Amino acid sequence: MPMSENRALPVALIVDDDYVMRMLERETLAQFGFEVVEAEDGEQVLAMFDQSPPNLVLLDVEMPGIDGFEVCKRLRQVWDMTHVPVIMVTGMDDLASINRAYDSGANDFVAKPINWPILGHRARYVWRSAQAARQLNELKEKQAAIMQAIPDMIFVIDRQGVYLDYKEGFATTAFVPPNEFLGKNMTEVLPAETATLIQQHINQALLQNNLQSVVYKLPLADGIHHYEGRIAPNGSDKVVIVVRDITAQKLNEDRIRRLAYFDTLTGMPNRQSFLERLDSELLRATRSKRRVALLFLDLDGFKRINDTLGHTVGDYLLQAVAERMKEKLRTSDFISRPALDDSSLHFARLGGDEFTVVLPDVDDVQTVSLVAARLQALLSQPFVIGPQEIAVTSSIGIAIFPADGEDGATLLKHADTAMYHAKDQGRNNWQMYDQSLTTRTSARLALESDIRKGLERGEFYLLYQPQVDAESGRIVGVEALIRWQHPEHGVVSPAQFIPVAEESGLIVPMGEWVLNEACSQVVRWQERAANAPRVAVNISARQLRSANFLDKVAATIIATGIAPERLELELTESILMDPEARQVQGLYRLRQLGVHFSIDDFGTGYSSLSYIKRFPIGMLKIDQSFVRGLPDSVNDAGIATAVIAMARNMQLEVIAEGVETLAQLEFLRQAQCPKVQGYLFSRPLAADDVENLLRAGKIVLPESTTVP
Ligand code: C2E
Ligand code: MG
Ligand code: MG
Repeated sequence: MPMSENRALPVALIVDDDYVMRMLERETLAQFGFEVVEAEDGEQVLAMFDQSPPNLVLLDVEMPGIDGFEVCKRLRQVWDMTHVPVIMVTGMDDLASINRAYDSGANDFVAKPINWPILGHRARYVWRSAQAARQLNELKEKQAAIMQAIPDMIFVIDRQGVYLDYKEGFATTAFVPPNEFLGKNMTEVLPAETATLIQQHINQALLQNNLQSVVYKLPLADGIHHYEGRIAPNGSDKVVIVVRDITAQKLNEDRIRRLAYFDTLTGMPNRQSFLERLDSELLRATRSKRRVALLFLDLDGFKRINDTLGHTVGDYLLQAVAERMKEKLRTSDFISRPALDDSSLHFARLGGDEFTVVLPDVDDVQTVSLVAARLQALLSQPFVIGPQEIAVTSSIGIAIFPADGEDGATLLKHADTAMYHAKDQGRNNWQMYDQSLTTRTSARLALESDIRKGLERGEFYLLYQPQVDAESGRIVGVEALIRWQHPEHGVVSPAQFIPVAEESGLIVPMGEWVLNEACSQVVRWQERAANAPRVAVNISARQLRSANFLDKVAATIIATGIAPERLELELTESILMDPEARQVQGLYRLRQLGVHFSIDDFGTGYSSLSYIKRFPIGMLKIDQSFVRGLPDSVNDAGIATAVIAMARNMQLEVIAEGVETLAQLEFLRQAQCPKVQGYLFSRPLAADDVENLLRAGKIVLPESTTVP
């Protein structure tokens, strides 16, 4: 850009070898508002150009040395006509030299003799028009750059809908190649509906002379594309439409909506959307004075399925349940009432294995119970997941609006309470909410807090039940069993508090206490010369999975000083089928130390003997439910015999639990079960009482009736 541009006055350079001419020209241009500089010949001009180009050059043609034509030509190699305009002063008013002037790049010419006032006007005109042309050029370049940067397609369309012009968009695909629609009407190019829609907006834009926005979609080769068109009036009878492809944005919006409102595992509405819909349903019901039923469904024993068959299977099961609900719940034969149209019945997955169903406009409770029963029947048909067939039952709690709660949150809470009641009633049933249930829920919470306090206050203690050699009665070990001396309720059985402790996570600190106490007791017995061969400690699945469990066991062994081979950990069968079994490595480490492992309540879970090989298991405990039926129940006898035989083949020890009668003992001896435990020999006893038995070393069995 010429430096002189920044000055206040435009600079005119006068080039003439004639001093008088220069003087006259200077006077004239100064009067017309130019600052004037002068040069006597071509060389001088070209030298000046390196420093500071002027805004206008008045150039004499005939000069000694380089003539005006040549000076102009060279000048044009650096500056174009818009930057440095040149007026040639020709002596000859002939066409040839005028042509030469233009050819060499002059903007204009004046012929001698010069009409001085006109020269001034002409100079100003040439300077201004060059300036305007330059600004226009710059504007065009800027616009071109902007257009380049716009990812959108731009169309110019007339009032009737005919395409006049377009610019392609680098991020936007046109429906039809642009060269095919220019000159055509939108109705010939776009689907009729879309063309009409856009035409309406064009009409609006022209009528109101303002910006209109239109969103539409078009089928492209790779699928449906969504577009947003911004329509701006351009004059009175055409518009400019800037069209952007918003397909990706639309997809993202949909995805965000799905994430916010739908459960990713099952594709069912989630808790958030459920609560929102429930609220609007309740509003509607209030206006129409109808009742709404909320069913809260929870799968029975889902945790066990997750634990034994793994989370992947658990996830598949949840998907299958959701699928079945979605598929069957909406069909009219499921709920054959005209009032229950598709739009108002809805269901959701709240999380975990919890599902909800909302039945609007319920007139009688019978319909609700019918739906609950059908729902249970629907889900109780086995699910096939991979090679497995899984049968689940479910428990359902029902709360009715407005009687059981006047808002969504209360209703949900009460349906949940009713569901827990159904679980307590032995699962696989449904229960209506009842005021008294709330009290029961609080009782459960109270129990949890009592356990916490009980742990702090040392209200728990251990009993020990001897395990004996089936032939000799020799004591081969003891099992530690926890008891709770509750300050108000007396002695509480583990059957009542262990499930609550597991659910609340309190089983972890509780289990740590048990382990420590049992190990310490073994050491105390030893110090008092009453040898305990081995103490078995029950470990719940949740405890085993808790952080640092294995480290804590090792630390307890060191802290108490128990010989590791005197410790046995009773694991639940469910851990065998946990595919993650992260603990396996650690269990082997403990086994190397000498710690024994057994599987408690064997036979009640889903596991098979083959899984045992993956773990350092040394002993199976045949569950007392199989011992109970011995020797008469063919089924129990078969299972007990088979387990004993298979265990022997696998070099595993076996112990039968819950042996209460001589007949049972006889049967087990016959089946060559090496160890037994049960009331027949001893109930669980306090540590002091066990001490006496340990000193004796064996339990004298009552005389067998079958042996003569
Ligand atoms: P379990 O580990 O299978 O323990 C055996 C249960 O059978 C004990 O019940 C025991 O008292 C009972 N029993 C023993 N012999 C006989 C018999 O001849 N007939 C009958 N009918 N029952 C017999 P208990 O002490 O009430 O414990 C119940 C369950 O609570 C235990 O079953 C165990 O799973 C759990 N438990 C007990 N203590 C602990 C503990 O410290 N930690 C953990 N995680 N669970 C424990
Ligand atoms: Mg046990
Ligand atoms: Mg057991």
